[in-house]
Amino acid sequence: MPNSKKKREPGHCARLLERMSQYLEGDLGTDCCGELEKHLLDCPECRSKLDGLRRLAALCRECREEEIRQTSEFKARLRAMLLEQDDD
Ligand SMILES: [Zn+2]
Repeated sequence: MPNSKKKREPGHCARLLERMSQYLEGDLGTDCCGELEKHLLDCPECRSKLDGLRRLAALCRECREEEIRQTSEFKARLRAMLLEQDDD
């Protein structure tokens, strides 16, 4: 193991953490992604935090997809009902 512990400026991780949620949502440009990914390579703390965020984001996405599916089912049912009512 090379003894090259890089000095990390304080607040760097916190700032990157703010971006992580955007990163997960795909809102960041490739430049920012690159910086974040580079940092993640030598920062296990941020890696584990991103891991947690990713799991959380996956959960949110599942919830959202479920919601969307239910909404479209509801809309389809509503449309069917309206069409039925149409032939008076
Ligand atoms: Zn970090």
